[in-house]
Amino acid sequence: MSVGHMIAIHGGAGTILEEKLDAGQRDEYHAVLKKSLEVGYSCLDGGGSSVEAVSASISVLEDSILFNAGRGSVFNSKGLIEMDASIMNGKGLSAGAVTCLKNVKNPIYAAKAVMEKCDHVLLCAEGAQGFSKENKLDFEPDEYFFSPKRWDQLVSARQKGQVTLDHSESIGTVGAVALDSKGDLAAGTSTGGLTNRVWGRCSDSSLIGSGNYANNKTCAVSCTGTGDTFIRGVSAYDLSALIEYKNLSLDESSKIVLEKLRDAGGNGGLISISAKGEIVLNFISKGMYRGYKKDSESCHLGIFSEMTEVK
Ligand code: ASP
Repeated sequence: MSVGHMIAIHGGAGTILEEKLDAGQRDEYHAVLKKSLEVGYSCLDGGGSSVEAVSASISVLEDSILFNAGRGSVFNSKGLIEMDASIMNGKGLSAGAVTCLKNVKNPIYAAKAVMEKCDHVLLCAEGAQGFSKENKLDFEPDEYFFSPKRWDQLVSARQKGQVTLDHSESIGTVGAVALDSKGDLAAGTSTGGLTNRVWGRCSDSSLIGSGNYANNKTCAVSCTGTGDTFIRGVSAYDLSALIEYKNLSLDESSKIVLEKLRDAGGNGGLISISAKGEIVLNFISKGMYRGYKKDSESCHLGIFSEMTEVK
């Protein structure tokens, strides 16, 4: 029996300070989250697949300067913008990912092209760029990705000798999960990584099973937070395995995964939709930019503990 179609998104989790976010800024973030949900949902409504909906939703977030993905990506220790993304189809378990990718406007489309047109799962750096060129993806010059705010964050991280999550002042990594009317799940994640990270570092967002996973038998999940902890915990796959092998609910499984993340010294959150149509947006950080839309309802959006319905 079909449970209907639905989509959930995130725009990063972390130490978001409520007092630092005024009503105007909150509205700006809500507007982009809402647009992303509506683009993905109308794709599902029109009979589009969960893979199409997830990539379309993520591309909206990548085009916004507000989020640490695509255009709004943060700088690494060399002062370079290098982006990671991955996508997985719960039907057939096909997957594609890119890491340390430069100048591609929408890394999620590069990941999708890898999934659909390449025999391998993960391409890196120049190889991923060459593949993106061959597949006629849009490129942008360095200036497109430059913002003074991001540069200042790098300067400050360098001065403190820190590698920082993009969450204390603005927001982070983006992701989407969807269930389409055929019952197929998909998950996608895209990031500019951590400010001042070591050149060549790959994030959990580019690693299937760590920051991203989808399986029609269990769930689709996209993670955000301290990526190296998600990699060590193989967190996205762990969520799926708890459902598959222990038959736990999505909510119970997500709480176990996030407790393990906390015990390992990590921080962050995840969004997930199960094969049964459960939606979970859980986090152990102060906040997580997030939203979902289902059954022709309005968009539900949240940053801190509360979620509000936005017409
Ligand atoms: N997980 C990402 C990374 O480690 C960061 C984030 O989610 O904001 O690069």
